[in-house]
Amino acid sequence: MKDKAVFLDRDGVINELIYYKELGIIDSPFTVKQFRFFPDIDKAIKKFRKLGFKTIIVSNQPGIAKKNYTIETFEKIREKMKKELKKKGAEIDFEYYCFHHPEGKIKKFRKICNCRKPKPGLLLSAAKEHNIDLSKSWMIGDGITDIQAGVSAGCKTILIGRMKCELCKIMEEKGVKPDFVAPNLYKASLIIERQVRS
Ligand SMILES: [Mg+2]
Ligand SMILES: [Zn+2]
Repeated sequence: MKDKAVFLDRDGVINELIYYKELGIIDSPFTVKQFRFFPDIDKAIKKFRKLGFKTIIVSNQPGIAKKNYTIETFEKIREKMKKELKKKGAEIDFEYYCFHHPEGKIKKFRKICNCRKPKPGLLLSAAKEHNIDLSKSWMIGDGITDIQAGVSAGCKTILIGRMKCELCKIMEEKGVKPDFVAPNLYKASLIIERQVRS
């Protein structure tokens, strides 16, 4: 029998986004210190496991390609995330990252790939490598591209956002719609719990 998974975007779902005033952008954390968890992430991940889901991170991380941070910093952030969750009994099963960007400054990562969301490549690879039934799986993210990737992969989707969904209008124009909208990951886990039990 195949497994089922909850695919999680990272930035804006697990950890807070950072506002870089001098650059005028909202982006991923560039330093270990800037990586701050949203509340109750451990509770949500424990619930996914209890419901029989693998927890798999699927995240675009073009920051190395853009020279926002180094591979070493990226690894330190990963370690911090996993260690702190593990301490609370919440384990991430697998992680899949896309390091590419079409305009990356580092040649190795400068390309048009099949893994950068909205493409479903990360989810498809994870499903293939870990025997995941995508039709029984969920994609949770705070961006339109997360929902697009989830829909393309054949998953159910939850958008993390305020109930008055600002992105919904744009998504409507693009012809994508999340199955649910939740204000945070824990609330999203309750939605999945209800769906599994109904
Ligand atoms: Mg995000
Ligand atoms: Zn990629």
